[in-house]
Amino acid sequence: MLRTHTCGELRLDHVGQTVTLTGWVQRTRDAGGISWIVLRDRYGLTQLALEEGVESAEVREQARHLGREFVLSVTGQVAERYSKNDKLPTGDIEIRVEKLTVLNPAKLPPFLIEDETDGGDDLRMKYRYLDLRRNPVRQNLMLRHQMAQAVRRFLDGQQFIEVETPVLIKSTPEGARDFVVPSRMNPGEFYALPQSPQTFKQLLMVSGFDRYFQIVKCFRDEDLRADRQPEFTQIDCEMAFVEQEDILNTFESLVQYLFKEVKGLDIGKLPRMTYADAMRLYGNDKPDTRFDMHFVELNDVVKGQGFPVFDNAELIVGINAHTCAHYTRKQLDELTEFVKKPQVGATGLVYARVDADGNVKSSVDKFYSPEELQKWSAALGANPGDLLLVLAGPAHKTRKAMSELRLEMGQRLCLRDKNDFSPLWVVDFPLLEYIEEEGRYFAMHHPFTSPKPEDMALLDNPETIGQVRANAYDMVINGVEVGGGSIRIHDRAVQARMFSLLGFSDEEAKAQFGFLLDAFEYGAPPHGGIAFGFDRLCSLFGGADSIRDFIAFPKNNSGRDVMIDSPSVISGAQLKELSIETKVAEKK
Ligand code: ASP
Repeated sequence: MLRTHTCGELRLDHVGQTVTLTGWVQRTRDAGGISWIVLRDRYGLTQLALEEGVESAEVREQARHLGREFVLSVTGQVAERYSKNDKLPTGDIEIRVEKLTVLNPAKLPPFLIEDETDGGDDLRMKYRYLDLRRNPVRQNLMLRHQMAQAVRRFLDGQQFIEVETPVLIKSTPEGARDFVVPSRMNPGEFYALPQSPQTFKQLLMVSGFDRYFQIVKCFRDEDLRADRQPEFTQIDCEMAFVEQEDILNTFESLVQYLFKEVKGLDIGKLPRMTYADAMRLYGNDKPDTRFDMHFVELNDVVKGQGFPVFDNAELIVGINAHTCAHYTRKQLDELTEFVKKPQVGATGLVYARVDADGNVKSSVDKFYSPEELQKWSAALGANPGDLLLVLAGPAHKTRKAMSELRLEMGQRLCLRDKNDFSPLWVVDFPLLEYIEEEGRYFAMHHPFTSPKPEDMALLDNPETIGQVRANAYDMVINGVEVGGGSIRIHDRAVQARMFSLLGFSDEEAKAQFGFLLDAFEYGAPPHGGIAFGFDRLCSLFGGADSIRDFIAFPKNNSGRDVMIDSPSVISGAQLKELSIETKVAEKK
């Protein structure tokens, strides 16, 4: 090693020892007779001191020419500091420099390598290797490392085997677009990058692996948002000879273990909520249960009083924003604007304030007498000082809008603390989802998910097919879906039936999934599994909104890596070799 110690290591105990440190110049300060250099490495910061008459003139002269981020090796004696810095673990000591070697000079970095930087997003992405020198960014990646190690420790302890599955595969239908890779050796043919290792992990169960896991890259060519990346990482797991209950218990234990190991928190047993309840009470299949404010359906309470908006609505739903009766007209107008935003989608907002005496005054007093409004207040369990917010319209749309409004109110009332964790299981998802624009059913989870045996008969009737529930579950923490999975179909006939329900002809099913259907004829055990979004889980543990901060080299919102400048055009020769028309290259 070029060093004897790290920059985070030295304490008063080391005083008098001669040490060699290496690292980057964090900053320099010259006070005439004495100058200081703060040296940084991954482990911390250490102050170097150079005093006139103590350190040699040569060393002092060398120090004068240092800039930020120069890479140094320094040798000197550890000394007790005159003025100590109790914010720094090494703040009791400094190094009296005897020898200083510049291992490499550095250009002035384009932004400050400090906890608080002056660099904008784009600049930091372009120079990500410099951004990664910053403490908060490095700590995020260290958290990720810790999480990955804990996951491996736990699953290994439970007899899970880590198996790598291929990256060059064939499309798996998880509902997103595939990234494809042209095959040079098979002109005109393409591999697809896995959206998940779904079919492979199922085949591993057929092979008798019994318990599999992998911390694995997955690829989905979707429109990007703050919490999405075209390539992301899953903790992918599968178990054989299990029922839903076994999976829920095993992975509840994993998450409890992670919270304990990484955050020192006991999260206790995870509550379970059915999909139907989640939609009814929160309008959302990933409810943020850090706060209550659940929906109350008001159809029976408010209809029939001559207010056409309510009388004509499929659903009227309210929430009680505790203690918000003091909201000003301006604040209520803001909320009305909020619900009318296209992403939220409501046409208007009705509100009612409960005053200190319990009297209710609403924005629709013209239609509702004080006695009628008391019924609203009772239905929503209101107390003096509460504000009731009501939306009406088509059921699905209205629930979605109310869910947004609920989250907004939770935010305004500071009920969504990043240090609070409220995990739960959402269970009993519908098997199928009807997509209006496509005019057909789609698998809500994926086509390999098993219907609940007790709902099988409902599959026979087109009227009831939408009601079939699946043995499918999501783990939700603070309104974020961190994991999801299902018990799988392991019977060839059921799987073939499922493909046909999803609109695959026999030939198409065979062409795409023949290998799986075949495998099911060679002794497939009952099995099921789950996959966690690892980046999301890390960002949640780290108290951040974006997963980007927890990925070493992420892509930006347009799916670009601005540091290596990718994607990029490839040469005509490369295209030709891949038997791809060269139009793209010519255009550029
Ligand atoms: N493959 C699924 C997904 O990526 C997870 C699972 O069913 O295990 O969502």
